[in-house]
Amino acid sequence: MGSILLDKIVKSFPDGTVALNKLDLHVWDEEFFVILGPSGAGKTTLLKTVAGLYHHNGGHLYIDGRRVDGVPPEDRNTAMTFESFALYPHLTVYDNIANPLRSPRYGIPRDEVEREVQRVCDLLEIGHLLQRFPKELSGGQKQRVSLGRAMVRKPTVFLLDEPLSHVDAKVRHRMRLELNRLQRELNTTTLYVTHDYLEALSLADRVGILEDGQLVQVGSPTEIYRQPVNVSVAEQVGYPRINLLDAWVEHSAGEWQVRPFGAGGPVLFFPVSDGAGTLDWGTGEHLLGLRPQSIRIHPRGSGLGVVPARVYVATPFVTYAIVTLLVAEETELTALVPPDQQLEAGEEVELSFSGSEFLFFDPTTHLNRQTPHSA
Ligand code: ADP
Ligand code: MG
Repeated sequence: MGSILLDKIVKSFPDGTVALNKLDLHVWDEEFFVILGPSGAGKTTLLKTVAGLYHHNGGHLYIDGRRVDGVPPEDRNTAMTFESFALYPHLTVYDNIANPLRSPRYGIPRDEVEREVQRVCDLLEIGHLLQRFPKELSGGQKQRVSLGRAMVRKPTVFLLDEPLSHVDAKVRHRMRLELNRLQRELNTTTLYVTHDYLEALSLADRVGILEDGQLVQVGSPTEIYRQPVNVSVAEQVGYPRINLLDAWVEHSAGEWQVRPFGAGGPVLFFPVSDGAGTLDWGTGEHLLGLRPQSIRIHPRGSGLGVVPARVYVATPFVTYAIVTLLVAEETELTALVPPDQQLEAGEEVELSFSGSEFLFFDPTTHLNRQTPHSA
């Protein structure tokens, strides 16, 4: 229970800043929806608007099919966690978490409150902190207490504002799993915002990319990664950052010829159909996107690659290596390769990639030429 529907929501501040600009969003009942966007995109404003802590200036908001424009926060059955944790400094961890359950409007018996707080604290591994005060906690611990306080209420809608940003990597992975599990157990709808693309892709049923108060793309994690609607989404989702190359593309003698390395550089030839479907790129200038993961590096002369290149820098990171390559002495490419591939600076190599791994963007509008654009 708990779909969320935003219909052309506008939120502006007295100083004229428009934080949400006619934003449309439909989060399905029981969905785990993640909003991904850089700092300042409007993520916190979006959550506060859904929670009713901000009044929107335009559009309509529905929770669970009920129009809630103007409905006070306590009557929306949402629970929000805040970036700043918003814990009561004079209350212990136990009392901070139990507090929402003690409201006379719920009339929950004392032992049930205790059981519920215990259950949530076990889940979040904060059972040993119950008698501490917020100032005696680390950032990650405060964040978990804040999450606990949202969880005990069993709301129909969770609104989570970067809830794992201060949590240690080790605990974070477990908490992601727990959040997913909890969501299914409680049949809660979750709207989760983050600037961390890995978090978004690993948690979400669907991801929405927020830029300047508007959603520029909504899709499954795979769709967002494989078919970003524009250059900016492609750059936000993925590490290392996607390679972008000015390329000239033409169709000739039954194949595509792609020149991403300057007029004098190597040409890539692709059949018009690559087995997966017909490739229809269009003649002319393109901005070519190539993910570092899509580049394979072979020894020079092996015949396995099609583009000669030189290793500029190779940086090993134990589980992978990041390699900067130079093609035709002028074009830099970043590749991500397995750590056992020993590469030395200055080494001559050759590269291969498959046509289906390229993204083609319009060099002026920066829109992906292969995805339908609604935004
Ligand atoms: P995010 O959470 O994605 O970092 P916010 O929702 O906090 O972004 O902010 C979105 C935009 O609205 C930013 O440009 C920010 O400066 C502005 N903003 C946020 N809160 C206020 C406020 N109370 N008054 C004026 N501008 C604000
Ligand atoms: Mg924020």
